[in-house]
Amino acid sequence: MSPHPVPGLLAGRVAVVTGGAAGIGAAIARTLAEAGARGAVLDLAAPEGGAPEGWLALAADVRRADSLAAAFAEVAAALGPLDIAVANAGIVPPWTTTAGIDVAQWDEVMAVNARGAMLTVREFARVTSGRAGAVVVTSSINGWKGDWRIPAYVASKHAVLGLVRSVAQELGRSGIRVNAVGPGPIATDALLGRMASRSGRTGQSVDAALASAAGSTALGRLATVEEVANAVLFLASDLSSGITGQLLAVDAGVL
Ligand code: NAD
Repeated sequence: MSPHPVPGLLAGRVAVVTGGAAGIGAAIARTLAEAGARGAVLDLAAPEGGAPEGWLALAADVRRADSLAAAFAEVAAALGPLDIAVANAGIVPPWTTTAGIDVAQWDEVMAVNARGAMLTVREFARVTSGRAGAVVVTSSINGWKGDWRIPAYVASKHAVLGLVRSVAQELGRSGIRVNAVGPGPIATDALLGRMASRSGRTGQSVDAALASAAGSTALGRLATVEEVANAVLFLASDLSSGITGQLLAVDAGVL
């Protein structure tokens, strides 16, 4: 059971969450809203069940600078200056061998996961222009370790850590902290779908794949979307005021 967000922790703050229509991003938006933030979900898709109360749901493509700039401007016009950006949108390609890496697919993963995070952070730095704030980028345990047959994804999640560590050094002087969360396997619809599509090749059912992943953690279970969202809340709030340029793993202790 994950604790409830501290009420009022983010009162008066304005946040954007990319990829906030589903899975981890939707939980992040909910948690920030429960902690008192107003804000917007920026996504290609509309959030199922709508954005949190008082939040906007805006169509935006993190691959495109003009799309993000328009969305950030709309948020600022509706809710006031931005305080928090969560660069969470991400995609996972199908499995590939090394010899079979498809360049177009590699570029697409990099465009969403790495360029998308960079454009989100860049737009935040532009619109805050010297005001304090907090940025949280969703990396992965694949930000520090390799994984089977998803080299583009792993490379993209390593790339965003380089971004976080570099821009944190400059933006810190403006009072902007930049950190990353590193989820382990989290049973979102996206992960369950990937496990289902792989089961034909591996012969392992989704339940068996989940049990195997859970058995490879110190806690003997998977971390949840709420637990990732609580870590983002911590990094987005003043509770983490002395922390920048860091990766916080939320993986139930992947062994
Ligand atoms: P998800 O597929 O449920 O959600 C991703 C969201 O991003 C979707 O709503 C999708 O529409 C949106 N999106 C995709 N491309 C976009 C684009 N170009 N512009 C704007 N929005 C776009 O995935 P999830 O499992 O919730 O993952 C969220 C983040 O967490 C991703 O960055 C992912 O790499 C990372 N992550 C997930 C896991 C996991 O096991 N679920 C583990 C580690 C890291």
